[in-house]
Amino acid sequence: MTVAYELPPLPYDYAALEPSIDEATMKLHHDKHHQAYVTNLNGAVEKHPELGKKSPEDLLKDLASVPDDVRKVVQNNGGGHVNHTMFWQIMKPKGGGEPTGEIAAQIKADFGSFEDFKKQFNEATAKQFGSGWGWLIFDGGKLKVVTTANQDNPISQGHYPILGNDVWEHAYYLKYQNKRPDYLAAWWNTVNWDEVNKRFATAKK
Ligand code: MN
Repeated sequence: MTVAYELPPLPYDYAALEPSIDEATMKLHHDKHHQAYVTNLNGAVEKHPELGKKSPEDLLKDLASVPDDVRKVVQNNGGGHVNHTMFWQIMKPKGGGEPTGEIAAQIKADFGSFEDFKKQFNEATAKQFGSGWGWLIFDGGKLKVVTTANQDNPISQGHYPILGNDVWEHAYYLKYQNKRPDYLAAWWNTVNWDEVNKRFATAKK
């Protein structure tokens, strides 16, 4: 039997984001946590095979059309799958630095400077109570920082996320313990601005 959705391979080595994100965290995060979201999403699709014809993004865009008995499973695990697939792609070895391309200009226009944007993003995301994500979205012609709980993705509210950072404890606890702000500060050293620019182009469409 073929499964509807598969865990994408990590696009670099587990240790490639050291020292910002440690190897042990990356291994658990990708191989166990992301795999679990994919497995659980496939479990929902087994009950309703027609769902498997949609991309996971399309499932999240229209949760109302997902049958009641699996809607929450799809929201949580489809979200987990989509969020983590993005997350691995918007990071890269030797990433970080100043933003480039069109996103750099838009950040300057909407936040004043990259430093001001990071400050706003880190403050909002540090305050997300419990598990969730911080996001950058493009709404009404402007960049905005938002947060969501659990694995909720802004795409369910009509906003394609340009970037997002995972603040579930599994994303940072092995190395940073309770110091979420230290993780948030270090995370910017991993950002793949080329990929963020591609996502910005999609968000503008
Ligand atoms: Mn995670």
